[in-house]
Amino acid sequence: MKYHIISDIMKTNFLCPHCRGHLRVSNSIIFLTKTNKGKSGLLLVSPELGDYNVKVHPEYNNFEEGEIVNFICPICYENLDAKEYDKNLAKIIMKEEDGKESTIVFSKITGEKCTYKIYQGTISSYGTDAEGYKSIFGDLF
Ligand SMILES: [Zn+2]
Repeated sequence: MKYHIISDIMKTNFLCPHCRGHLRVSNSIIFLTKTNKGKSGLLLVSPELGDYNVKVHPEYNNFEEGEIVNFICPICYENLDAKEYDKNLAKIIMKEEDGKESTIVFSKITGEKCTYKIYQGTISSYGTDAEGYKSIFGDLF
């Protein structure tokens, strides 16, 4: 398993894999979200991989541990599920300053801290729960 520090995160863009719209505004990646308990709201996450602080409206802050959050592109309304990996994972595109594009895969489960950066057959993982999906990515680790 490899760990990378992203030095110039300010110049990194995050795109919807469906419409390639920009999901990042200022220092947040913005998602429409809807939980499996029927709650919905905007959810802002840090562009820093492995930073699991989220910003939501105070009325949309009552997530239960284990609650599944569905991530939806706020531009084209497509679901961001990464079903090719696991039903509990979602994905977006990370485009770095040099044009390099990686797939960022992360957990939809509240409280589960794992993020994977996949680039040309190699994977970097972040978060204390990253080992949990290791078998899915197999040889990439
Ligand atoms: Zn989109």
